[in-house]
Order: sequence, then C-alpha cells, then structure tokens
Amino acid sequence: MKTVDKLKKYLVEIKKNDQNGKKINAFLQLNPDVLKEARIIDEKIKKGKAGKLAGQIIAIKANINVKGLNASCASKVLENYKAPYDATVIQKIKKEDGVIIGIANCDEFASGSSGETSAFGPTKNPIVLNYVPGGSSSGSAAAVAAGFCDMALGSDTGCSIRLPASFCGVVGIKPTYSSVSRYGLIDLSMSLDQIGPLAKNVSDSSLLLSVIMGKDEKDSTSQEDKKINLNEVEKTPKDITIGVLDFVIKDKNIQKLIDEKVEEVIQKYGWKIKKIKIGNIDLAVETYYPMVYVEFFSGTRKFDGRRYGKKIEDAAGPEVLRRILGGSEITKAEYGGRYYHNSLIAKKIFSDELAKAFKKVDCIVSPVTPKLPHKIGEKISVEDMYAYDALTIPHNLYGNCALSLPIGKIDGIPVGIQIACDKFQEQRMLQISMAFEKLNS
Ligand code: GLN
Repeated sequence: MKTVDKLKKYLVEIKKNDQNGKKINAFLQLNPDVLKEARIIDEKIKKGKAGKLAGQIIAIKANINVKGLNASCASKVLENYKAPYDATVIQKIKKEDGVIIGIANCDEFASGSSGETSAFGPTKNPIVLNYVPGGSSSGSAAAVAAGFCDMALGSDTGCSIRLPASFCGVVGIKPTYSSVSRYGLIDLSMSLDQIGPLAKNVSDSSLLLSVIMGKDEKDSTSQEDKKINLNEVEKTPKDITIGVLDFVIKDKNIQKLIDEKVEEVIQKYGWKIKKIKIGNIDLAVETYYPMVYVEFFSGTRKFDGRRYGKKIEDAAGPEVLRRILGGSEITKAEYGGRYYHNSLIAKKIFSDELAKAFKKVDCIVSPVTPKLPHKIGEKISVEDMYAYDALTIPHNLYGNCALSLPIGKIDGIPVGIQIACDKFQEQRMLQISMAFEKLNS
C-alpha cells in the first residue's frame, strides 16, 4: 500500500475516534504537512531510493522537539511553544524517511504514570475505554493501540514507555541509558530519561530502535556500542537462562500470567530458569523520587516566563508543582545534599545488584507493573500512583535496557511482561522478546 493511502486511513480513523467518537485524545496536534511529506516518500520508494523507515507513520511524544510543531509537554506552560529545531532522534527518523503524523499527548512534563496529568485532558485506553492507558507516554501507546499510526516515540524515566505499552497491549522499549541521544528531549530527569520506541510488535520496535540509537556529539552522555542487526533479531537464541524476579505482587492473576508464559517459553525452547533476588528492591521508588524532584527542579529553572512560554510556577498542574516544590526543598543548603546524595548512593547499590544478577542470567523477567490500571478520574493516592513503577524503576536506576511485551489480558485489560537485559544487550533482549512473542502466534 502506498504511504499516502495508509496515512489517509489513519487520518480518517483519528478524525473518527481520537477527536470524535471514542475521543481517545491520543494526539495534541497533527502535522499539517503530513500528506505532502508522505507523497514525497512515495516518490522516493518508487525510485528505489527510500530509507529504512519508508512507509512508516510515526507519532511523537509532546516532550520531543519536532521543528515547527508544538513541543508543549502537554502543559499550559509551553502551550504555544513551537519547536525551533529537530531533536536528534527526529533528524534520524526523517533521514530514514519516516513520516511524522503528529504530536502525542502525555502526562505534563512526563510526570505521571496514568496520562491524567496532561493539561489537555487525559488520554483514554483504546482497549478498555474507561481505564487509563498508563503514562507518561499515554498518547504514544494509545495511538499505536488504537490504530492511528504504525509506531511512536515515547520517553522513559521511571516507567513511561513500558507502563503505557503494557496497559495498551503494545510493545515498548526503554533502551540502555545513553544509547539514544537525548538532544531535543525536554528533561524530566536528565540522569534517567531515555527516548524509545513503541510499536505493534517486536519487529517494528526493533526497526525504529535501530534507527534512533547511536552516539551523538550534541549529547555528551551518549555512547555507541553494538549496532542492532535486524536479521539477527529474528533468530531464537539457544542456551538462555531466564532470571525470574523474586518479588511478591498483590495481584496474583498478573503473576500467574507471567509464570505461565515463562513456563511455556522454557518448554518450547529448552531454556533454563533461575530465581533472581534484587536486594532492597522495595526501596526503588523511594530512591527514584528525590533524584527526579531535584533534577526536574533544576531543569525547569529555564521556564521563568522570559524565554519559553509562561512561568512554570504560574501555569503548571499540581503534580509538576509538587515536584518543583519538593526539588527546591531537597536542594536547600541546610539539608546539605542529604536526600539527593543518599539517593545517588542507593542508585549505585541497585546498579551493583543488577549488574551482579545479569552475570548469572541472560535476562530478568517480571510483570511490568504490580497492578492493573485504575479507571480514568478515579482518585488514587500519590503513593499508589508512584507504586505503579515499582518494577520498572530499578532498570532506570541501573540504566540497562528493558522491554514491555503484551502477554494476555485480565478482564479484558492487557498485561505486559517486562524483559530486561544488561546494558547494551538490546539485540539479545529483542531476540528473547521475539521468542516470547512467537508463543502468541
Ligand atoms: N511515573 C514516573 C514519574 O512520574 C515515571 C515517569 C516517566 O518515566 N517519565 O516520574
């Protein structure tokens, strides 16, 4: 099918069910030039000169700069802020002829786990409409799940690609920290943020990941390791030892689904299994927040109303304000760096634990999240909201790669398994994930 024809179908569907009908609210803005851009790509395809992403229609989270489109971070603060340049990941997508369909809704400044903190209204879960889609890359996951695009970019600081992928029944990847350039990503927490892909399956996610990875001189933390070989990703690896995370979650049904899948995979491929304990894993959330508050506070000082949009303290919602207030308190001289410093110490301890674990096993699997999503608008406490991320945060603290793969449903609600590998082991992670995915077909 021509890119233009596929695009037109998506645009009809968006009109029907994003803005009207089901009112999913996955998009904050559509790219006004998208049809023109798709036609150019079709010409290139005809001439045999198109790049790796030719024909792919891609949604971009609202905290990533796409030149000429709104990088609002789903906030009133940057409501009318037009991105003056392309983030490195966008340059790479354009170079490989991906077509950017629009800007996806998210939690305000990527702060949240449900998609409800967006200043432009929550996104609905396309699979179970009255439930949250998970955040913060809510619009990115919902757009893929609703059939509004082929793939999307999100960002993940503590959960934000994997959690919405899990709740919406799509694949989401948090790459190794530093493997994808953050240049042009508006920070939540610079030492944890990573941009990554969401798509309908492992193969499409691998393709997008292979395009966006790599060292970038504009992001001094970025590094290059091995490139992903897409042919290798298809191959089921032998002699794999799966580490099953030893962590008790309250929802026994979620754990049962995970255990069944692991059992199936080891039966089918003759892989081995080992229980993995990560010391103090129940303190991961507590470790994470002081860092996020402090780094977010620091990163948002530029939103003083002079250069970009409105002053953040005047225009942001309660979750963003909580973080700014928390960050400004924690960084006061009288605390002598106590909280931030201790968080960094705990981060190092987690990292050592995970590094040790990955020496014993090829991957660590767990549920993506310990519980199912809540209903949109249902009041849940801040602690309960933060608790969604108990199993995803450890991998941000260490900085390794982790993927969320749909493995079934409970009461019609999608459930994902998290498959995590050591730093720069993306290829291995994709192979293992594809092997799990093959069980579904
Ligand atoms: N829920 C976490 C937070 O609010 C993670 C968000 C994210 O990964 N962007 O900080």
